[in-house]
Amino acid sequence: MQEASMEQLWGSSHLGGNVAYIEAMYEAYLKDPNDVPEEWRSYFDRLPRSTETAPHDIPHSTIRENFILHAKNKDTNRPKAASAVSSDFDIKQVKVLDLINAYRVRGHQKADLDPLNLMEREDVPDLQLGYHGLSSADLDTVFQVGNLASGSDTAALSEIIDTLEKTYCTSVGAEYMHIVDTAEKEWIQQRLESVKSHPKYSGEVSKHILERLVAAEGLEKYLQSKYPGTKRFGLEGGESLIPLMDELIQRAGTYQVQEVVIGMAHRGRLNVLINTLGKSPSDLFDEFEGRAQYDSSGDVKYHQGFSSNVMTPGGEVHLALAFNPSHLEIVSPVVEGSVRARQDRRKDTVGTTVMPISIHGDAAFAGQGVVMETFQASQTRAYKTGGTVHVIINNQVGFTTSLREDARSTEYCTDVAKMVQAPIFHVNADDPEAVFFVTQLAADYRFEFKKDIVIDLICYRRRGHNEADEPSGTQPLMYDKIRSQKSTCELYANKLIAEGAIDKAGYDTLINEYRDALDNGHHVVKSLVREPNESMFVDWRPYLGHDWTAHHDTRIELKTLQNVANQLTEVPEGFVVQRQVQKIIEDRRKMTVGAMPINWGYAETMAYATLLHEGNPVRITGQDVGRGTFSHRHAVLHNQKDASRYIPLEKLATENVPFAIYDSFLSEEAVLAFEYGYATTQPGALVVWEAQFGDFANGAQVVIDQFITSGEHKWGRLCGLTMLLPHGYEGQGPEHSSARLERYLQLCAEHNIQVCLPTTPAQVFHMLRRQVIRPLRKPLVALTPKSLLRHKEAISTLEDLAEGSFQTVIDEIESIKPKDVKRIVLCSGKVYYDLLQARREREIDDVAIIRIEQLYPFPEDDLKAALKSYKNVQKVVWCQEEPMNQGAWYSSQHHMRRVVRSLKFASLDYELDYAGRDASASPAAGYMALHVEQQNKLIDDALVG
Ligand code: AMP
Repeated sequence: MQEASMEQLWGSSHLGGNVAYIEAMYEAYLKDPNDVPEEWRSYFDRLPRSTETAPHDIPHSTIRENFILHAKNKDTNRPKAASAVSSDFDIKQVKVLDLINAYRVRGHQKADLDPLNLMEREDVPDLQLGYHGLSSADLDTVFQVGNLASGSDTAALSEIIDTLEKTYCTSVGAEYMHIVDTAEKEWIQQRLESVKSHPKYSGEVSKHILERLVAAEGLEKYLQSKYPGTKRFGLEGGESLIPLMDELIQRAGTYQVQEVVIGMAHRGRLNVLINTLGKSPSDLFDEFEGRAQYDSSGDVKYHQGFSSNVMTPGGEVHLALAFNPSHLEIVSPVVEGSVRARQDRRKDTVGTTVMPISIHGDAAFAGQGVVMETFQASQTRAYKTGGTVHVIINNQVGFTTSLREDARSTEYCTDVAKMVQAPIFHVNADDPEAVFFVTQLAADYRFEFKKDIVIDLICYRRRGHNEADEPSGTQPLMYDKIRSQKSTCELYANKLIAEGAIDKAGYDTLINEYRDALDNGHHVVKSLVREPNESMFVDWRPYLGHDWTAHHDTRIELKTLQNVANQLTEVPEGFVVQRQVQKIIEDRRKMTVGAMPINWGYAETMAYATLLHEGNPVRITGQDVGRGTFSHRHAVLHNQKDASRYIPLEKLATENVPFAIYDSFLSEEAVLAFEYGYATTQPGALVVWEAQFGDFANGAQVVIDQFITSGEHKWGRLCGLTMLLPHGYEGQGPEHSSARLERYLQLCAEHNIQVCLPTTPAQVFHMLRRQVIRPLRKPLVALTPKSLLRHKEAISTLEDLAEGSFQTVIDEIESIKPKDVKRIVLCSGKVYYDLLQARREREIDDVAIIRIEQLYPFPEDDLKAALKSYKNVQKVVWCQEEPMNQGAWYSSQHHMRRVVRSLKFASLDYELDYAGRDASASPAAGYMALHVEQQNKLIDDALVG
């Protein structure tokens, strides 16, 4: 090696391949130093080595590091060449290594990925010999192959290119060189190159793949002939998904996976339901024919979920396909949450027992931000699930929107996955064996590295967006091509017939057998377990059929309460707590012995603590939940000496009753969807998501609309999720005041959710305990306070915690005589304390203030009970801080009117009057002076107006 060729190496952009070359050179040097050129021998000879190292035994890492050092610092560290002239061969050797690397980096851009052959592909200069100073005259020359996993250290350039072309430029396009971890990269390289991306499969495997393709195609044909033109979002064009799913699940089974949770949108869903999960075809036909039984409002068939158990080489595996709204990607974080809950239940902190599969459409994967959020979550403490296998059904069109120009700015729809360095395998769906291969690779990678991986199944959509659609109006050339395109199944069958692996009669038998099974309504998944092991999933029966009005005891013995509390205020020896936090701990000690009134932070913490003590797991996530946005919680303590963490509530947790609290990454949509998925899978736990400010939940509106408020009625899926939403008008401007109470109230019907505004520490204590102690599983939307966290009147006693209960309505608490009351002010939340203060200041004694602490389900009976003693009332006023078009006024007034009317007060003038801000486009005033003016007016209106 001469100086010029070393220069080439150092200056090269593809350092990885050159490192491999150097390593190969070093190997040769180790065997016989005379086998390497003099310059290199002296270079290796002069490498630093420790005293223990034998002269010719320097670790590879040293070689690598030194080389990289040289590359960075050419002038100072380069080995001195004996001659300024390099041999032509040495230069070419370097170029060959560059070429190998170029294929690894850019081979996918030349790969034959599109079954329709319409994909626009740009020339890749790096993959041409001339670009590297090589030519066809070099094809017979034998070169070192570096770490190309081709089976030998040297090969003719033509063989090297053959390996690279087959590996990287046929029906598999591999993107993995963006991964920085060398072990991962080498693992993938080895797997791809050693079989040139096309391992030989036995006849059994080929027949199995064909059988699955026959099933995939057979179902669509059957439905098309039986229910022509009915929307089903068929899989036609993407049939390879079915053998892919089968192999993914079977392969996962070999890793002893116990459960697989699948999320997917509508395209191909019926096919997956029947051919992967083993749903009974006759049940599907009933749905098509409108014969299905329903006890709720239900959902269309291509949104339905399903559960079953299948047998795999590693044993029985429980499969769950998540219910899905048409908001495509939003199901992905829901699936992740469900998977995490199942892993937690199995005490699996690594992610080996439950695997998520997320099936996406290309346009949505490229377009929707929640995909990025879900990737961002994938390795965080709170949300990791040990790697998700993502499968894109890439039919190269988004409804009617064409790719590249309009559907995205990225080269591939999968580019977002690179943000977490996920390997991406683009694969031509018309090569089912290549699909099978990347599926195995994906499963193996997931279990090896516990990270996300993407299979981009490049296919097409034989029909329009749905079966009633005419696609050639917007995609004429594509559909012209599709019309003459043979199906994947037919192409593969022809290939196998040509190879003699099957005969035509055998193929026809497969088709007929499948059709007969459908005719008879029989299950078509051979691995389906007819009598599933029920211990593999949660028994939800205890939570079914409960009414919110049933009373459940949330009290706890005072002694127990104090014992539990004492455990929380102990801090480990040597753990240095910050000064203000220390004061909070000291105050909590005083509260425990009754020497100080109970505040919000104490009561809330005690709700978690007592639930844990009683055997209920607790999970809390959200931005800043460890401390609490307003510093009231301090559930996570930080050692001022070494930044280590201490979580007192963990003292009350056990292996079976875990406590988890995590600050979330700065997302609402994916995070709330995750917690919804978690809560719909873990009924025994208190699952809490807290918004930093209440209105930030509007970043997760899809989750609220499509899942939280409607999931039970669409899909029969119960959910006990608690959302804590800080809310209150304190002059902080439009973005920090309102949790948009009106949105939740407007979504309330059929007792779908609970909306509460607790105003005392005891109320939050009992509200949170009630959420778990009652067997009712309904989402709880709790508007929580900000300034009330420290309000001197928003206090409770130990007895309130030990002996109380959640009160949906709190009657007047001051010494106002009911018979003197002329006016009743009804209110919810913080405004109560403003009204109280104003009434005292003005020495008003004929106004009663009654708090409605649960706005939905509306506690009509409790309100009636509270109001009935005010016989002489003349006016009932609803007072709210929010503008008239917001808050509870429009959504809840009919409930209040009904109660007031039913009491038939003899002297009543006004059934229900309004005191609050005028209707407003913005939630709150941005100017403090305006805020105060509005606040004074609404208090006036309520008390005397
Ligand atoms: P899965 O493990 O999600 O497949 O659920 C297994 C079975 O438990 C389902 O078939 C349902 O019968 C029931 N189930 C699961 N989740 C819920 C839920 N959130 N609400 C009610 N029943 C559920």
